[in-house]
Amino acid sequence: MRISLDKAIKLLKAGEVVAIPTETVYGLAADARNDQAIAKIYATKERPANNPLIVHIAGIDQITEWASDFPPLAQKLATTFWPGPFTLVLPARADVPVTVRAGEPTVALRVPSHVICLQLLRESGLGLAAPSANKYTQLSPTTAAHVEFSLGDDIPVLEGGPCQVGIESTIVSVNGDDWQLLRPGMISESVITLVAGKPALHTSDEKPKAPGQHLLHYSPRTPCILFDSRHALDEYAATVPAAAALILGNENPTDITKNKLALALNPVSAAEQLYAALHTLDALHAPVILIESPPDTPAWAALRDRLHRAAYQPPTQK
Ligand code: AMP
Ligand code: MG
Repeated sequence: MRISLDKAIKLLKAGEVVAIPTETVYGLAADARNDQAIAKIYATKERPANNPLIVHIAGIDQITEWASDFPPLAQKLATTFWPGPFTLVLPARADVPVTVRAGEPTVALRVPSHVICLQLLRESGLGLAAPSANKYTQLSPTTAAHVEFSLGDDIPVLEGGPCQVGIESTIVSVNGDDWQLLRPGMISESVITLVAGKPALHTSDEKPKAPGQHLLHYSPRTPCILFDSRHALDEYAATVPAAAALILGNENPTDITKNKLALALNPVSAAEQLYAALHTLDALHAPVILIESPPDTPAWAALRDRLHRAAYQPPTQK
């Protein structure tokens, strides 16, 4: 159900959930100070309660309403990358609802750049918790139609056009003078290193702590297989004629069969196209989607992350 900005503000203030546009993916938003509203996000998405939410705010001046510490390194990153697809995890103020941070002592904050989203944040005066507007582990939505496909037609949706970044934000935690990359995104680790003036801290732990970063995430319903080369993909495709395929390259559209899609050969455009392409291929109900892995270079890191998750097969139970 498409709704106006005024209606979205009314619903959010009344503690309801509304799907909203952002430049990354559509979010399922609720008042981040309202426990009951936050509970509706988890229930609608069927998301586990130990998976914290990102709080979207209208500007950097609101950060002290949520974070108890805003060290100079975090200030530098925020002033450089906000508004934009960049999330900062900082120590939380005690009055930030435990539900929104899933019991963590930290809170994740982002100032989005989508014009309608910013207008909503400014006019409502709310901080909005907004994970992707889809059922847990499914494909993220980059159009209003994707939201309705996953959550049903009764979900109120504020229309904002197709998302221009197309994949979820980069997440960075800052602790004093140190930073860690919790989730790769289109703002790359190398750019953050330049702005921070130092590389990410690598602890002896295997992985930085990012609750909810499950391998099985962002997945189509159709099983996916990832291939390191087009040659390997083509060889496999020859044995499964009904397979769908997602390849990389500026192919001539007439050379592409109806069950094959090509992403642009540059990572910025490919990210914008990614989820819509996977939604389209998923809707074919092919036995499998064959995916050509992007190159193992820093510029493609975020795309590779999402595609590896899409193709992740949980180990079979013995
Ligand atoms: P999304 O799935 O785009 O809503 O992003 C939420 C993800 O942000 C979670 O799954 C966590 O990995 C990360 N996150 C959110 N809040 C925190 C936090 N307080 N500490 C660490 N990671 C967080
Ligand atoms: Mg999500």
